[in-house]
Amino acid sequence: MADMVKLSLDEIRTLSTEVFIANGMSDANAEVIADVVTQAEADGTHSHGLFRIPGYVSSMKNGRIDGKAVPEVNDKAPGLVDIDSKNGFSPPAIVAGRSMAIEKAKSQGIAAMGLRNNGNLNALWWDVEPFGDAGLICFSMSTSRSLVAPWGGDTALFGTDPMAFACPRDGNPPMVFDFATSAAARGEIMVAAREGHSIPEGWALDKDGNATTDPAAALEGVQLPFGAHKGNAIMMMVELLAAGLTGGNFCFEAQEQFTEYGSSDSGPSNGGQVFILIDPKGYHDNFARRVEGLFGLIDAQEGTRIPGDRRYANRARSATEGVECQAALHQQILNMKAS
Ligand code: NDP
Repeated sequence: MADMVKLSLDEIRTLSTEVFIANGMSDANAEVIADVVTQAEADGTHSHGLFRIPGYVSSMKNGRIDGKAVPEVNDKAPGLVDIDSKNGFSPPAIVAGRSMAIEKAKSQGIAAMGLRNNGNLNALWWDVEPFGDAGLICFSMSTSRSLVAPWGGDTALFGTDPMAFACPRDGNPPMVFDFATSAAARGEIMVAAREGHSIPEGWALDKDGNATTDPAAALEGVQLPFGAHKGNAIMMMVELLAAGLTGGNFCFEAQEQFTEYGSSDSGPSNGGQVFILIDPKGYHDNFARRVEGLFGLIDAQEGTRIPGDRRYANRARSATEGVECQAALHQQILNMKAS
């Protein structure tokens, strides 16, 4: 087992902010990305926490992402917010347009916010949860770059294209689900390759288009949609809404523009993301009661849980106990303060 160090959430926030600023990120963007890192660690989604810092820094250093980008927010129409992320990180662009999108959804019952020219792709729960906190239903989808073949085919066209949904609750944090629409996240296949175990059938094809359970062959080949033809249709919807609608790149376009600098550095080139926001109060005042009625029936069945609850439990625990980080990763990040 690797050596671990214990860090408080304040230490993670301060360290992340200092490293980002030392490596050329603007103060305003560093505050937002440090929050992403801190929240990811707090919630136990380490794949988007401290682990990402070296990739974020190298993306800025090699010029693939502009750490000083100032997103441009356009009040496009009564129900539409349009954001040009200017090849910056996506979270600052989301924060820049958030209050306008909330105001539009609350005044009209429904609104959409579209982002284009995103330099990276975040964990979508961080993106959607604040809209749920504001009392809105939020559905978001984002493109990445081509890694997944359409169902029946053998050539990468779609990305791992995540989607997320937040539903406000009375007296509880919003219900949030968030996942890639590929059969598996790429990171899971990479872990299997590193640890030398096979992957389930249905996750990937090798470079010759044959089904494979060998993770190394899968990484050379293509991933597959979740849920066969049904997941394929959902991936198509993600591409159409997150890229076709917003003006961001489809995954195949992002792939054409992508330069591989290193595996921790991957992300979309000029990617797109869409948020569809609905104020449930626009229909009637019973929404919260009906939500709790349904969730109560789900909770009553043994073996079930409400999506998001694992993260919220981690969040409560880490606020007092802090989190553990691999000592080698911690040292690598500390060294970056001097860059
Ligand atoms: P998972 O397959 O792990 O599914 C996660 C979702 O399912 C969460 O909402 C989780 O809730 C919920 N869930 C898990 N188990 C249960 C259960 N037993 N009962 C009810 N709900 C459950 O997600 P992925 O591996 O596909 O994606 C992981 C992350 O990676 C996401 O945040 C996604 O946005 C991100 N991503 C990032 C990409 C990038 O390039 N940066 C690309 C694609 C995805 P809970 O959180 O409470 O566990």
